[in-house]
Amino acid sequence: MSLTGITAYLRPGTLEEALALLGEHAIAVGGGTDVIRHPHIGVTTLVDLGALPLRYIRQDRGFAVGATATLTDMLQHPGLAAHLDGVLAQMLRGVGSPLLRNAATIGGHLARGRYSDIVPVLLALDATVTLFDGTERTLPLADYYREGLHRGPALITEVGVPPAGADTAAAFLKYTRVAYDFALLNCAVRLRLGGDGRAIECRIAVGETPALGSLVAPAADYLLDGPLDDERVATAAAIAAHEIAAQDDQRASAEYRRHLCRVGVRRCLDEARRRLAERRP
Ligand SMILES: Cc1cc2nc3c(=O)[nH]c(=O)nc-3n(C[C@H](O)[C@H](O)[C@H](O)COP(=O)(O)OP(=O)(O)OC[C@H]3O[C@@H](n4cnc5c(N)ncnc54)[C@H](O)[C@@H]3O)c2cc1C
Repeated sequence: MSLTGITAYLRPGTLEEALALLGEHAIAVGGGTDVIRHPHIGVTTLVDLGALPLRYIRQDRGFAVGATATLTDMLQHPGLAAHLDGVLAQMLRGVGSPLLRNAATIGGHLARGRYSDIVPVLLALDATVTLFDGTERTLPLADYYREGLHRGPALITEVGVPPAGADTAAAFLKYTRVAYDFALLNCAVRLRLGGDGRAIECRIAVGETPALGSLVAPAADYLLDGPLDDERVATAAAIAAHEIAAQDDQRASAEYRRHLCRVGVRRCLDEARRRLAERRP
């Protein structure tokens, strides 16, 4: 735990107030599970976002998840937990422990920008983030990381999960050394079929390579060009394994990560295909 040097703990009631308080010596706190684990050199003030009206989950066409909704809130929301065959719920159940999920917020998770099972799934689901830096704007989650916006100073206020019809399925897999651990590699897919049984949309995201999750467009695009048979699914998985920025670290070698990627992406695609086939008359 690292709260050394903290002299003030503030709980603003409005977004404007919260933003004005942040700066070189003051950082935001969602659930605090990451903040307390890492020393923040020069930080003297913690700005707790818990009093802002951002702890909500609204279901309309898709879902709007307020930034201070906890991972448990997400798991316990019947609509969100059931969305796309429960892919988010399946993934969230593997994030840390119940105690961690009771505290950790979706905004804090995305803003910390490292080690994540959540990011690949949200990327595959084409999620958006809404930011507030004096004005509010919404952008794809992929752009949020591509533009390095998680390094601040904007606050995340909301995460959007778009709707999906019966022609769409998703799947997620996480490979770990032991059950309670960060992933060696994780992957998620979302697949949408046209009337002729061909894929008309495909998103494949791979994470913990060990970099944060990212979309693997060449593998996904490959599947749009022909029938969705075993051979083409295996080829798409091989393309993904080739494309990812796999590196060695203490958890796994780059070579092993490429192997996991090939197996994991194929299994996710197979699972999504299976779910879609079950729904067909
Ligand atoms: C023991 C343990 C096990 C874990 N296991 C897993 C796992 O299996 N899978 C996985 O994916 N993750 C795992 N994690 C990571 C965990 O999910 C994150 O620590 C958690 O989601 C962070 O959320 P938080 O609300 O606590 O963030 P905080 O600690 O509050 O904040 C994190 C960062 O985001 C900033 N911030 C907070 N809220 C906002 C906001 N609304 N807008 C902008 N910036 C903001 C803070 O300033 C800080 O820099 C684990 C963590 C721990 C401690």
